[in-house]
Amino acid sequence: MTLSVMWFRRDFRLQDNTALYHAVKQAQHRKEPLLLIYHLDPKFTDRDTPNHRYFFAVLKRFFTDCEEKGINIHVLQGTWRSAFTQLLENHPGVSSIFFNKDEVGEGCKRDMEVVEYFNQKNIMVNSFDDYSIHHANEVKKANNSIYKVFTPYFKKWMTMPKKQPLIISDETIKNCIIKNERLYKRGLEKLSAVVESEPGPVEPAQEAKAVDLLELFLENSIDHYDCFRDMPAAEGTSRLSVHLSTGTISVRTVLYHILEKQQTSYSTGMDTFVKELAWRDFYTMIHHYFPDCKTKEIEPKYHLLKWNHDDILLQKWKEGKTGYPIVDAGMRQLKQEGWMHNRVRMITASFLTKDLLMDWRLGERYFEEMLHDYEESSNIGGWQWAASVGTDAVPYFRVFNPITQSTRFDHVGEYIKTYIPELSLVPVKHIHEPWKMDDTVQGEAGCIIGKDYPEPIVEHSVQRKKAIQMFKDLK
Ligand SMILES: Cc1cc2nc3c(=O)[nH]c(=O)nc-3n(C[C@H](O)[C@H](O)[C@H](O)COP(=O)(O)OP(=O)(O)OC[C@H]3O[C@@H](n4cnc5c(N)ncnc54)[C@H](O)[C@@H]3O)c2cc1C
Repeated sequence: MTLSVMWFRRDFRLQDNTALYHAVKQAQHRKEPLLLIYHLDPKFTDRDTPNHRYFFAVLKRFFTDCEEKGINIHVLQGTWRSAFTQLLENHPGVSSIFFNKDEVGEGCKRDMEVVEYFNQKNIMVNSFDDYSIHHANEVKKANNSIYKVFTPYFKKWMTMPKKQPLIISDETIKNCIIKNERLYKRGLEKLSAVVESEPGPVEPAQEAKAVDLLELFLENSIDHYDCFRDMPAAEGTSRLSVHLSTGTISVRTVLYHILEKQQTSYSTGMDTFVKELAWRDFYTMIHHYFPDCKTKEIEPKYHLLKWNHDDILLQKWKEGKTGYPIVDAGMRQLKQEGWMHNRVRMITASFLTKDLLMDWRLGERYFEEMLHDYEESSNIGGWQWAASVGTDAVPYFRVFNPITQSTRFDHVGEYIKTYIPELSLVPVKHIHEPWKMDDTVQGEAGCIIGKDYPEPIVEHSVQRKKAIQMFKDLK
């Protein structure tokens, strides 16, 4: 019996999933059954970080949600080669395979290898651009070179036609697929072995929840997005990032609904939000053309920067014990929730690189471990931006001041107090610089500096000068 295979990766949804849509259409057309699979790679299952735990919890939820709909995903384990060898032993009649391709990182390298493997076996490969609105090769200058600066990239991005969501009913999918009882049962055992039985404190992303969240955001928040998106205490952003990174919603669907709403009720918030979605595409494109950017600065002149190495300072930063409340609140939010507000990501990244003068790669790696919404391209882009070493980055002489940032974006310290209980009684006047409280105020606030909450571990004004000098020394 011939059959085709749909391979899920980080696209845990049934709607507007390009590869799935085309796999189902082909199965209908050829009247050929479709087998759904997921491949558990030991490269990932062997890593135990909050990011990995969350990702596999989302996979498990997707698996269970699909099962409840009578849609069965077969989980394979081992290197991709051994996993597919097993699959082909069970189903020698596989005629074609469908997946959404990776344009960056390890996934991109693996895709090149698997395509060759399937070609050798005369299995038709159908791979699709799905993770972005516009993929890496789409948005180019007139002379076919790439944009390295966001604004002209975005201008071009906006002029390009946008795709409609690809919708199919669950029933249609159910009617196309087959279940291999033995393979399915074994897969479930493998999946259960890597996913903790107790869900973590944060509920895993799920297709239905993503749709609800988008609807709520469009109804209540998008019109004010431009006003509140920088306020970490406000619920001013969409919180869609975990859904986009695990694929429980398609980014094209998100855009489609915004553009649809824009037809009847325009707001500047919508324009600003669309621009953020384009940043995601921009960083994916940059990562595609600079495949070494996880380890190398995009700007070659910064390869020789001499970063500081200090494990004690690094640990204090990670634990939210730097003595700078906005930095500490952000790092504690990350630890507690696996998510951090964008403005605070910028502040904490700037603090590590410009105040502690530490290598941005250490921060990128720590965020990789901790963020539930980890997306390699956006994270590298964000870190190289903050460290002033990437393309279209913040200029090295414009160093974020954590006190000014905090005063401006968390004016009364609401965000700070949410994550740093030891500062909860500190008066607004001192919340951004608690070390300036005199002994009496410290006593009244129940917060003795150096005992209940740390002294600043470095002095910003001094470090700022050192950071600028570090860059100047290269010239
Ligand atoms: C140092 C640093 C590291 C970052 N690491 C990641 C990461 O690993 N994964 C990630 O998804 N985003 C990352 N970002 C970008 C941004 O912080 C998050 O996308 C955003 O905070 C997610 O929350 P939200 O969904 O509520 O965002 P919203 O403000 O609602 O934005 C909507 C969507 O637009 C995209 N987006 C928004 N801002 C950016 C941006 N600056 N770059 C790329 N895409 C953006 C995201 O997909 C986001 O979900 C990083 C930013 C910095 C400064």
